[in-house]
Amino acid sequence: MTDTVQRNLNFPEWPQYDDAEKTGLMRALEQGQWWRIGGQEVELFEEEFAAYHGAPHALAVTSGTHALELALQVMGVGPGTEVIVPAFTFISSSQAAQRLGAVAVPVDVDPATYCIDVRTTEAAITDRTRAIMPVHMAGVVADMDALEKLSADSGVGLLQDAAHAHGAEWRGRRVGDLGSVAAFSFQNGKLMTAGEGGAVTFPEAEQYELAFLRHSCGRPRTDRSYLHRTSGSNFRMNEFSASVLRAQLARLDSQIETREQRWPLLAELLSGIPGVEPQGGDARCTRNPHYMAMFRIPGITEERRNAVVDALIERGLPAFAAFRAVYRTAAFWEMAAPQEGVEDIARRCPHSEALTRDCVWLHHRTLLGTEEQMHAIADVVADVLGRS
Ligand SMILES: *Cc1c(COP(=O)(O)O)cnc(C)c1O
Repeated sequence: MTDTVQRNLNFPEWPQYDDAEKTGLMRALEQGQWWRIGGQEVELFEEEFAAYHGAPHALAVTSGTHALELALQVMGVGPGTEVIVPAFTFISSSQAAQRLGAVAVPVDVDPATYCIDVRTTEAAITDRTRAIMPVHMAGVVADMDALEKLSADSGVGLLQDAAHAHGAEWRGRRVGDLGSVAAFSFQNGKLMTAGEGGAVTFPEAEQYELAFLRHSCGRPRTDRSYLHRTSGSNFRMNEFSASVLRAQLARLDSQIETREQRWPLLAELLSGIPGVEPQGGDARCTRNPHYMAMFRIPGITEERRNAVVDALIERGLPAFAAFRAVYRTAAFWEMAAPQEGVEDIARRCPHSEALTRDCVWLHHRTLLGTEEQMHAIADVVADVLGRS
């Protein structure tokens, strides 16, 4: 590797911050009250986040995992119910359902977009199914037209796992404006972050009010008599996190703009490398915030893929092996799981099986780099695969 290429790989750092975060943190500090009931930052952040996503209501919480758990609970998920999740996703999608005592039912994903396959979803619906959880993989919005129709026809609710989809749009509408509940994450690697954190957007006031109660130990906002109205837990976001997230939200559009310019170039360069297939999009996803730059190396073994990832890291790329199908983890089988063996599920999820072996992703900070750096990324990938 030449020095020039090495120099080319100094991508912007993540997370990013400037005086806006510092000012926000001092503002929260000097309020004298550091939780949401005494301060203003969480409330203002919720208003700004809801407005940005076209949602009537947003509730800030402690993590994306908690956001999913709370949303599912509000949708009536509990013991005796089932939640359909894509097999290829971060484990929180299935874990949130399982934590509530529900069975997580993994179904296969589309081999190009890596989003939930609607036909296999339809086939998995039973009279116990209480929710379908599409994941907008790396910012590609799942087929919401077909999912909304399936939801209307079956009466099963949709919960969008929007942990990768801050600012994403489906046919010009933000994910909070699509008529279903959406859950977001603000963990350190996500597109906007306070280290940890999450949010849920709601189309209906009633769901939002119930979620507020449940996220605050079942206690109404103004309660002074310990009259806890519902069961719940403490998922409240603190004022410091919210103050940082307000600054992060204000910076999001310009970052999305840069990533939307870089990805088509990088995808084109990657697809020019024999054996490499970048993640496909969907023309109806009119805004993709690009949480990951993902590509597949079809036919590669898992072992060799892992060696490729190690080599990419060694050459200076922030590269990662993609998620493992959720049913290929010990965690999945520790809680309520389908009455099927792992190999039975694997047989009906061939694309998730393949993605577990052959998919690689690069951190989104690469897409905040220069055009020249997109060429450098493709050069390194081609070089490592020995096919340049
Ligand atoms: C990050 C992530 C989550 C969970 O978010 P945390 O804030 O880390 O709890 C859920 N779903 C998906 C798809 C994620 O990538």
